[in-house]
Formats: sequence, structure tokens, C-alpha cells
Amino acid sequence: MTTTAADGGTGVLAGEQRMLIDGGLTGASGGATFEVINPATEEVAGVAADGTPADFDRAVTAARRAFDANAGNWRDDVEFRARCITQLRDGLVRAQERLRRILVTEIGTPIAMTYGIQLAFPIEEAGYWPNQARNFEFLRDAGTHSGLGRTFRQKLQYIPVGVVAAITPWNAPLYLNVTESVPALLAGNAVILKPAQLTPWAGLELGRIAAEETDLPPGIFQVIVSNDNEVAAVLTADPRVDMVTFTGSTAVGRKILAAAAPTVKKTVMELGGKSTHIVLDDADLAQVLPRAAGGVCTMSGQGCTNATRILLPRGKLAEGLAILKASMDQFPYGDPWDMRTYSGPAISEVQRAKVLDLIEGAVTAGATLVTGGGKPAHLPTGYYIEPTLLSDVDPRSTIGQEETFGPVVTVTPYDTEDEAVAIANDTVYGLAGQISSGDDEHALAVALKIRTGTIGANVGGTFSMTSPLGGVRQSGLGRRYGDHGFEEYLEVKAIGLPARLTQR
Ligand code: NAD
Repeated sequence: MTTTAADGGTGVLAGEQRMLIDGGLTGASGGATFEVINPATEEVAGVAADGTPADFDRAVTAARRAFDANAGNWRDDVEFRARCITQLRDGLVRAQERLRRILVTEIGTPIAMTYGIQLAFPIEEAGYWPNQARNFEFLRDAGTHSGLGRTFRQKLQYIPVGVVAAITPWNAPLYLNVTESVPALLAGNAVILKPAQLTPWAGLELGRIAAEETDLPPGIFQVIVSNDNEVAAVLTADPRVDMVTFTGSTAVGRKILAAAAPTVKKTVMELGGKSTHIVLDDADLAQVLPRAAGGVCTMSGQGCTNATRILLPRGKLAEGLAILKASMDQFPYGDPWDMRTYSGPAISEVQRAKVLDLIEGAVTAGATLVTGGGKPAHLPTGYYIEPTLLSDVDPRSTIGQEETFGPVVTVTPYDTEDEAVAIANDTVYGLAGQISSGDDEHALAVALKIRTGTIGANVGGTFSMTSPLGGVRQSGLGRRYGDHGFEEYLEVKAIGLPARLTQR
């Protein structure tokens, strides 16, 4: 553990540099590293090992060997798996103050968010899955079946898929590293975690804890990073990898699906979104809209399920815009170390430029800039973006269709509910959404018409470890959480038996 010169009393840390390959913590072969930039200061906070093709090959070889050899009886001993993951969870708890500082440093996340999605939630999640696995019936009786003149008894055996590559993004790295790796491990797979290069430390720290504080057999859990996506892409093409679980952009998801096709890998894809919030005519705007605006701006707008497109009844447009503008002008953003801050900088200069380009393009396409729209003058250092409100946005325009991933709310007025539903459904995505109404039944009736993986009808978000999360259409394939999420990491084997075995 090293404290940087830029500490300034805030306890900024340089994180773990080493990868976890085949049970050992190691630098890259050849010793190369890449820089980790603190997006709030634009300074180099430290480095991480820059994995090479040889390192990736070693990791895949070790995973294949560990899985095929059933290291430590891994595939068959759910108690052992649950014990290892509980050790991992306990290690996270012991490391949580160090992790808190690492996460604020590498993501620029407000420290307040580490008491929720960025740190407290993944620790809770690592504690949730062991019991889910213990209670799962890996071998179950499935009754009697008939077909083609034959009657047979059936048992279903749920078996691990094999070697799983888990590839994660930077917006909530510890959470997504845990969400992808832990259930896959508890299902009996060997997992190679590849965190995003903008935020490598959350994953490398998980690897360090796994190596030093758990009994996970060598090769069963590995963490490997590279600054070069082409190097990492081998995980999606290597025939020795059986499955890819991925969270990230739809563009990269498409590439991974194409790379995985020749070897017919199983895939779970949690991709981008363009989620809509339909505010119905009977909604209380003063209650609904400040929370809606806050929900979009939190995490610098870098949340995949954010309902960034707000649809307002035309007769309430002026009132709604006034409320939204007031909320966004007061939104607490800036220094991530300040507990009162709810949004820090964008992750990188590239990401900020992309968001500012989308805003500029929207105005060129005819939208009205109500507030924000640029770099804040009072925050000259750090990749900050002003909370931005755009009105009269054409839902078919670029900003109406493409994921923004910035603190940008777009407003489009509508005349009828059918028109609002049509706008909400008219994107290539289908990840999340929200409906607000003064009447719960009314909200539900509209929610039933939206093509999306999750939707909140008068409840804001719908995020829970026991609730399936995922997208339809180009927002993804498969689900996280609960039984739905756990079964993604298993294959079901149907075993036919003589009908006389009914009682067994
Ligand atoms: P990204 O798609 O650019 O990268 C995600 C990961 O893929 C990174 O680890 C990256 O290094 C890796 N990668 C890139 N090219 C690759 C290739 N050819 N082969 C293998 N791996 C490759 O996404 P990002 O910019 O890190 O994250 C933002 C995106 O993540 C947004 O689109 C957001 O919607 C999405 N996201 C989705 C969910 C969800 O649950 N649906 C959750 C969080 C984030």
C-alpha cells in the first residue's frame, strides 16, 4: 500500500498492481504497466500490470486445468465453494476502508456512493450468493415424461458451464466484478475476471484478497488486465473458454458475440440502454421530477439504467421544465471526497468529450438548452460536466436514440399516452424505464406496454439482488440476480431413467 504525494490528507491510495494468475500475484510478463488516472485531479494515481498475450494464455491454461481436474472437488462441493466466497466477502469487509479510497480515486465516484452501489452493495452481494447456492437444487426430480411411445422418469442435473471469462466496465467496477464473478464461481465454474483498464484496481484488489485470504484453488479464480482490448479479446475467442459474461457497451457486446460465435460460447450480455421516464398527466410533478433529475445526474450520469429521456404531457411542459431546471441547477456535484457531493467527474476526457459532443449535436438538431451544457467554470481541473437539461428533443435525433452516459436529461412533450408509449419503445434498446402517475394502477397499465427488461411503476428504481435485471433487444441477453441470474452460469442436463424408479 502506498500513499501518493497527492494525498493531501484525503488518503488517496495507489491500488494493487499485480494480477492473480494460477494462484499467484504477479506483474505482467516483461514487467509492463499502464497508468491509472484520477479523473477528479487528472493526475496519474498509480499503475497496474499490463497483461500480455502470454499472461492471458497462462490464465486460460490454468483455468482449463483447474476446472477439468475438478481442483479441490470444486465442481461438486457447494459447501467448499460457499466457504471460499464467504472468505472473499470477509476479506472485502476487512479491506473496505482501503477499497473506499481506491474506488473514489480510480472512478472519481462520490464517496457517498461507496456507502451504496460502489462498495456496500457488492459486499452485501458477496454475502448473499453463498446461501443462494446452498439452497439451489443442483439435482432435482422432474417427474415422468412420455414421447415417441416411451415413458421415462427424469432428473435434472445443473452443471457448471466450465471456464467463464467475466469482462466488466468502469462505471461501478467492484460491484460489477462481484456481480459477474461470484455467482459464476458458486455455480462451480472457473472464472477469469478482466476488469476495465480505466478502473483496474477494484478488480486487482479482489484478486489480492482471493489469493491471500481465501482457499480458492489456483486457477479457479483469476484476475487479469490489459491496456489493450485486442489482447483481452483472446478471452472471447479462445476455444478453451466456454462462456463469456459481459457488462459494457452494445458496440463491444456485438464484437464479443461475433468473436464467441465460432466456438459457440454461452454468453450473458448486459449492454447499453436508452431508458425512458413517462410522466403521466396525473403525476405530482413537484414530487416526481426532482428525484428523476437527481437519478440521472448521480454518478455523473454514468449509470446504465438511468431514465434519461423524460416524456412530459404537453400541457405540463413549462411547469415540468421549471422544476427540472431548479433541481439540476442545485444538484450537488464536484469534489468526490465531499460527503455532500452526489456526482463527481466523468471517467475520462474521452468520455467528457463524447457527452459534450452529443449535447452540441442535440442543439444543432433543434433542441433547446435549458441549463448546463458545458464544462463548469468553477471546476477547471477534473473531467466535470455541468448537469444539463435539454428540451424539445426529437426522440429520433441522435441524443434521443444513443446512450449518453453523462448528466444530461432530455425532455420531449407528448400529446397522448399511446404516443408516449410509442416513443419509449422506439429505440434499439430495452434495458429499464420508469412510469410516474398519481394512480398505481394507471402506472402499471402503462408499464405493461413498455418493451424493456425492468421498469419501475411509481417506485423509482427496481434494483435488488432477488430481482432479475437485464435487457431485451440490443440491451442484452440473459439476466443477473436471483434464480434467473444464478442459472445463467449453469447448464441443465436432462437424465432419463426407467419409469420404475418413480420413488427414488
Ligand atoms: P466498454 O464496452 O467500452 O468496455 C467494457 C469492457 O469490455 C472493458 O473491460 C473493456 O476493456 C472490454 N473490451 C473492450 N473491447 C473488447 C473486446 N474487443 N474484447 C473483449 N473485451 C473488450 O464499456 P465501458 O465504456 O467500460 O462501460 C460503459 C458501458 O457499460 C455503457 O454502455 C453502459 O450502459 C454499460 N453498462 C451496462 C450495464 C448493464 O447492466 N446493462 C451496467 C453497467 C454498464
